[in-house]
Amino acid sequence: MNVLVINCGSSSLKYQLINSESEAVLAKGLCERIGIDGVLTHQPAGKDKIKTETAMPNHTVAVELVIKSLTDPVNGVIASLSEIGAVGHRVVHGGESFAESVVIDDSVMKAIEDCNDLAPLHNPANLIGIRACQELMPNVPMVAVFDTAFHQTMPKKAYFYGLPHEYYEKYKVRRYGFHGTSHSYVSKRVAEILGKDYASLKTIVCHLGNGASISAVMNGKCVDTSMGLTPLEGLIMGTRSGDLDPAILNFIANKENLTLAQVTDVLNKKSGVLGLSGVSSDFRDLEAAAKEGNQWAIDALDTYYYRVAKYIGSYAAAMNGVDVIAFTAGVGENNPPGRETIVSYLGYLGADVVPEKNNCRGEEKVISSDQAKVTVMVVPTNEELAIARETVRLV
Ligand code: AMP
Repeated sequence: MNVLVINCGSSSLKYQLINSESEAVLAKGLCERIGIDGVLTHQPAGKDKIKTETAMPNHTVAVELVIKSLTDPVNGVIASLSEIGAVGHRVVHGGESFAESVVIDDSVMKAIEDCNDLAPLHNPANLIGIRACQELMPNVPMVAVFDTAFHQTMPKKAYFYGLPHEYYEKYKVRRYGFHGTSHSYVSKRVAEILGKDYASLKTIVCHLGNGASISAVMNGKCVDTSMGLTPLEGLIMGTRSGDLDPAILNFIANKENLTLAQVTDVLNKKSGVLGLSGVSSDFRDLEAAAKEGNQWAIDALDTYYYRVAKYIGSYAAAMNGVDVIAFTAGVGENNPPGRETIVSYLGYLGADVVPEKNNCRGEEKVISSDQAKVTVMVVPTNEELAIARETVRLV
């Protein structure tokens, strides 16, 4: 079966067509500037990208263009729409309603809508994407795969904030966690690669991309993760602050004459390694600036890696031990010096990194020594494949 995987943002839509038997990506692409003007980038497997500027007044038109590209006589990969067996949608927030992926029906749409408050930038866009696909493919089954679902197994002690409990009761203010599809995929892959039983492993997954989060996965279940009510909590990220003293919001609002919404915007978009370094949110730029002696870039990297190491230590404590530490996503997969720096804090756990093994990018690999007590690995994430697998499982 061919599964169309859709990841819809407010003005963008990413897609991949995956054959579920071979798990090959037949084509992938991106619609950008939806509702503004419109740019479509389509890439059939093994061929160059084709970039077209074309009007995309709304998401339905964008999905129409995606289908047109997939069925195009020259650059298409299927003969007709009937070759799409199912659609898997990434949905950011499932609140407490979804601990698993689900086949989408009217009640699921309503429940996703009920979570709009918790992810005002993402969930409405996800719903628009689903509706656009339903309109054009009314008889094709659709599945929602939630970023939050994998973390629903966290115990209360991991998801409660130290706040008046009526905020939880009235508004569901608690920690949810994100990147769940990635944490689930990588933790399972770790067990497969090592030939170990998923149900008896203690794994810490470090998803270090532009957004970054860590999870503690014990006996096949997530027991803690670093993101919270929103994806702002936890690690220092490309542009997001991660954990900080909540009193800083009011302090900066007063000093800079900003509203709380404006300060929150700074914490989301102008902070993290970008804000601290004043250079870039991209680790390639930061490494280059640090090499040239830029002290703010050096300090931003130090602070970033130190925070990751502290989280690993706290999750080793949460699980009373750790068997595997796995690095994934853009920075985790492609940045050997970063991995080495993080693991240099973890000698007390019995973790190490062998520089020759660590000199790798984007491949599945054990990078610790044979005698290390904790296995350190690189495991590239594949959220689209995980969504396609979930979709096939449910339809
Ligand atoms: P992601 O959000 O998973 O796509 O990760 C994006 C981030 O990965 C970028 O902002 C870069 O900081 C980082 N990245 C990608 N490639 C490299 C590389 N070769 N070396 C260092 N960092 C990289």
